[in-house]
Amino acid sequence: MLESELIIFDCDGVLVDTEPLTNRVLARCVTQAGWEVDTAYSITHFKGRNLTDILADVESHLGKELPSLIDDYRKQMYEEINTFGVPALSGIHELLDALDELEHEAPHRCIGTNAPLEKARLTLGGSGLINRFEHRDGSDRQTMFSAYEVGKWKPDPGLFLHAALTMGHDPKDCIVVEDSTAGVTAAIAAGMRVIGLADLTPVDDLLEAGATRVVESHHELIDDLKQG
Ligand SMILES: [Mg+2]
Repeated sequence: MLESELIIFDCDGVLVDTEPLTNRVLARCVTQAGWEVDTAYSITHFKGRNLTDILADVESHLGKELPSLIDDYRKQMYEEINTFGVPALSGIHELLDALDELEHEAPHRCIGTNAPLEKARLTLGGSGLINRFEHRDGSDRQTMFSAYEVGKWKPDPGLFLHAALTMGHDPKDCIVVEDSTAGVTAAIAAGMRVIGLADLTPVDDLLEAGATRVVESHHELIDDLKQG
């Protein structure tokens, strides 16, 4: 049985399959700025990090300031999400079903994302996931937490600690599901256990960042969470 009382899900790459689209757009914007990178490079070096840090890297590489890069990226990203949509990751609805079946023993759950809430709501709403977190038990309890609310982005632990405090849980009773090394680092720094979901990030990178365990699919994660 599940030991943890609160499961904190990362959003991009754990709930919704946004990473291919967002990294494609980011690679295009960085290339347009003068540094030729592809989607694979963006996934390896930029995924899961906050945009201010990425901008600093790109400006340092090019040796010039890029005052419009973040706005250009956001504009193109929202356009592409609105045009193409992003799907729920395979197996996530089944995973949430399995947690629901635990009924009164079901752990609380919430979302902790480095992205703005506007983006999370857009992608989660389009993939049928938003109602699986918000107003599930008829309450107005906050279940979506953005780094923009607290001004601290993963790998800083501030977002996860804020989510745990707001949800009324001790960090040691929280388990985080993350697909990026920045998120794994944040969870460990917050004193939480963390399951790494290896998809675009290699297993070894997640383990090296400190992941308590690593799984390679949401189906494997269902068994893992049930076993605690
Ligand atoms: Mg992620």
